[in-house]
Amino acid sequence: MRITKNQARKLLQECALRVTAPRLAVVRVLAEARDPLSHTEMLDRLGDTDWDPATVYRNLIKLRDAGLAEVVSRVDGIDRYALAREENNHKHPHFVCVHCGRVACLPEEITVAAVAEGPWAASVAKAMVQLRGECPDCLQPAGQA
Ligand SMILES: [Zn+2]
Ligand SMILES: [Zn+2]
Repeated sequence: MRITKNQARKLLQECALRVTAPRLAVVRVLAEARDPLSHTEMLDRLGDTDWDPATVYRNLIKLRDAGLAEVVSRVDGIDRYALAREENNHKHPHFVCVHCGRVACLPEEITVAAVAEGPWAASVAKAMVQLRGECPDCLQPAGQA
């Protein structure tokens, strides 16, 4: 979802965060991202900026602490962030590609629907379900050969 600078500013203000240029950019990248992003992936998407990686990292943490961003995936000690939204809190499983390292959101249907009720429901809602393998992009060359 693409958001404007003004929308990003509003999100920051709603969380009582000071509006700064790196913060605005980080919020916009998170809003646009289809999949959860690590700090490094965030830097890639920000492209050429004057901000050093530590600044971007501090802002991610700040957004997380304010409840605007959430760590929705943790793979091999790497946290990946997404904008915290009620309608999309990444309860679906994530797919971790062992080849390129990308973490992708899987469709909501691929979930443990059987435990949507009962004593395990709350636990499942909080759990991070992670599947591992090779993503379609990495599998393709082999399939075509
Ligand atoms: Zn891959
Ligand atoms: Zn997700």
